[in-house]
Amino acid sequence: MDKWQCGRCEYVYDRQEGDPENDIEQGTPFEELPKQWVCPECGSKKNRFKPYEEERETEYYKEDEE
Ligand SMILES: [Zn+2]
Repeated sequence: MDKWQCGRCEYVYDRQEGDPENDIEQGTPFEELPKQWVCPECGSKKNRFKPYEEERETEYYKEDEE
């Protein structure tokens, strides 16, 4: 999975782009991000992220899934 979306905001971590503002190099898999890495938009921790699917088949979307 190359893209992960924040569970609280619209931010999507894209492996291709990395996160330059936080010294994450391009090509860094989400799994290898530092534990202290948080969403650059809202500060959510890594465990709030979910695999991002470009084509959502279901309209139903749980916003606060544990
Ligand atoms: Zn976020």
